[in-house]
Amino acid sequence: MISSPLKIKARARRVVESALRRQAKPVRRLMLATGRDRSPVLPEIVQIESTNICNAKCVFCPRDEMHRSQGIMSFDLFRKVVDECAELGITHVRVHNYGEPFVDRQLVEKVRYAKSRGIREVGMISNGSLITEPVARGMIEAGLDAINISVDASGREVFESTRVGLKYDKVIGNIERLVRLRSEMGRRRPKLILSFVRQNNSADEQAFIEHWRRIADKIHVTDLHNWAGTLNTESDVNYPCYRPWLTFTVLWDGRVSLCCADFDGRTILGDLNTSSISEVWNAEPYMRARRLHLESGGPDICRSCDLPSKDSPLWVVKLKGFGERGQGIRDKDRE
Ligand code: SF4
Repeated sequence: MISSPLKIKARARRVVESALRRQAKPVRRLMLATGRDRSPVLPEIVQIESTNICNAKCVFCPRDEMHRSQGIMSFDLFRKVVDECAELGITHVRVHNYGEPFVDRQLVEKVRYAKSRGIREVGMISNGSLITEPVARGMIEAGLDAINISVDASGREVFESTRVGLKYDKVIGNIERLVRLRSEMGRRRPKLILSFVRQNNSADEQAFIEHWRRIADKIHVTDLHNWAGTLNTESDVNYPCYRPWLTFTVLWDGRVSLCCADFDGRTILGDLNTSSISEVWNAEPYMRARRLHLESGGPDICRSCDLPSKDSPLWVVKLKGFGERGQGIRDKDRE
């Protein structure tokens, strides 16, 4: 039987990924030896935490372990961050981090502002419970590019016992209305991505996913992660995580944390109240975090984090030629 080119490509990809996983140590050493602990000139994605407040209490979320203060990013700070992204040519901005972004009543205006500054891709993750009709219309009109809503495939009972505080019918109704409004308004965006946490793979679960596959633009079946070792400390990840090289996470109060998994801001690398994105990104604390990551799997929170096990180690090829180009990773390689 002759394999299709797509199958050959997928197989080749798996082979390379598995080789990279096996050769993680030499890869790390090579990255260090070739100066990859320095950053690409700019981050690929800037993730802005509109708020870390949430209206739910999901059983798989380490909210009880969060000790930093809760709040909503001021419009002035949001504007400063977005203005810098626009000036630097950063094209991917997300308006979520930890917390439910729609708790922020100014979110529609914030998205509108980001789009008005020419940010090409503005996206977010939401639990879907606060997307009222005005919010849905507002987001469509403001130009939100993508929204990822988490839904569970095993129905109302599992949903309401795990996503404590949320109502299944309300979330499903909000999603359906968003899709209907988008169509009535003649828009194709925001793209709708629905995430399902992998559970029992039952026939019901499969049927549910198939139903939504016809409605959503993309289905994302996902596994839970351990929130940088907070929920458990088991991780067999041995290859470098892409986040210190490609993503930049701004907490609601302007501090910059290591990544999206650092929900409590344990590894703070700078502060946008007093510095710019490029200053923080290229300063010693960030460099040190990358260096530690290659030398010993650090900083501390990385050592027991299993989030990279969900990623492809192939991201390292994005760093090829770093040093000569900088711009290349932003325009050509990010797609
Ligand atoms: S390994 Fe985990 S904690 Fe470290 S940067 Fe990656 S996602 Fe964040």
